[in-house]
Amino acid sequence: MLDTPPKNVTINKIYYKKTADPVSDKWDVPISTTAKNCRNYIREIVDNLNLEPNPNKKVIALSIGDPTVYGNLVPAKETTDALIETVLNGKHNGYGGSCGLDCSRNAVAEYLSYDGVEVQAEDVILCSGCSSSLDLCITVLADGTRGQNILVPKPGFPIYRTLAESMGVEVRHYDLLPEENWELDLDDVESKIDSKTAAIVINNPSNPCGSVYSEEHLRNVLRLAERNKIPIIADEIYERLVFPGNKFVSVASLGAKVPLLICGGLAKRFLVPGWRLGWIVVHDPVGAFAAVRKGLVCLSQRIIGSNTLVQGAMTKILLETPQSFHDELMNTLIETANIAYEEIGKIRGLKPFMPQGAMYMMVQIKSECFPQFNDGLEFVSKLMEEESTFCLPGEAFGLGGYMRIIITVPKELMVEACERLANFCNKYYKPKPCQLLPPVSIE
Ligand SMILES: *Cc1c(COP(=O)(O)O)cnc(C)c1O
Repeated sequence: MLDTPPKNVTINKIYYKKTADPVSDKWDVPISTTAKNCRNYIREIVDNLNLEPNPNKKVIALSIGDPTVYGNLVPAKETTDALIETVLNGKHNGYGGSCGLDCSRNAVAEYLSYDGVEVQAEDVILCSGCSSSLDLCITVLADGTRGQNILVPKPGFPIYRTLAESMGVEVRHYDLLPEENWELDLDDVESKIDSKTAAIVINNPSNPCGSVYSEEHLRNVLRLAERNKIPIIADEIYERLVFPGNKFVSVASLGAKVPLLICGGLAKRFLVPGWRLGWIVVHDPVGAFAAVRKGLVCLSQRIIGSNTLVQGAMTKILLETPQSFHDELMNTLIETANIAYEEIGKIRGLKPFMPQGAMYMMVQIKSECFPQFNDGLEFVSKLMEEESTFCLPGEAFGLGGYMRIIITVPKELMVEACERLANFCNKYYKPKPCQLLPPVSIE
């Protein structure tokens, strides 16, 4: 041990400038601006609702975006076995690299190499859930101190906003078009781009809309990004979670000259959201992302990498889970979606939008049919009060007049929930006053 510095070595002494203010003699611990600006929009909306269920009816929550809560959807045996094996073999108790273990990054690369896409392991960064992937992507591209903004969908998953605003990055919402399969309103997107726009976030398949975009639409989105030289952050957490007859197209597969950060993870398709394993794939066909790659590596060091037990199990999870597991999950989801679509479609004043993938269905509440309620928030509160059924109001995703229901509940519960919805709507439905037809003259 060296108690005194050896000769010929200078130790730099740093002097810090002290503020002139006297040190306080009372505890006063303020929180940072980042923390203050970090808001959970779903919680804020839900906490402000008066949500007292009817004590005579068991609550059905059609609101919870976690496919595991009802216990009807469970991960594949291959998935759980892989994790057990990893725990028992004791080889994955240490740190991985901050971007993840090579074998796990390889597995993601292989898993995502389809439809002509070739992902290399070095393009993959493992994160603590897809939320953390999105966090890194927004953080690396957008800078609040330079007044930058990002574009996010409306309606859309509120975490984009939570992440961006906590860093002082402005969020601009672009419209999705409900009557056109919730596609991006491209004119609206373009009108919101300026020199401070750091990224466009797109989400396909979509939460909350359940829409799956066509190749043609995605090409149009990519063209817009190329024209404006804005990189895309693609939230593809529902990658390949599409119903039969639909095809998932990754923006990475279209060969566009647009730099892309693709975010995904195990949470939804493998039914293990609590395992917190997500990824970013860097696609840089124009060589614009050299600094971004480095920046992402630096940012990944903030948590010294994600959970290595799950990483150790990943090769088996991603590459050995049988297709039959995925097919069964999709069959279950589409059956429940069909029930909801059919039953809600019969209810006057509501309009369901049939999803093509993901785990949700949007339902429009025709406000003119329910003059009793001022908005969708009042509608969902009263529905809870009378029928103990809770749907997330569209306001939680930035769009009033709608509610989002999950299609991951057991079928019987969906049937019951639809009956309750019908009861409720029949009670409050008011037909619009009929217009009188002009008298017909008979010759
Ligand atoms: C669930 C979800 C995520 C978050 O995924 P995690 O891996 O659990 O962090 C991200 N984006 C969308 C659209 C989601 O629905």
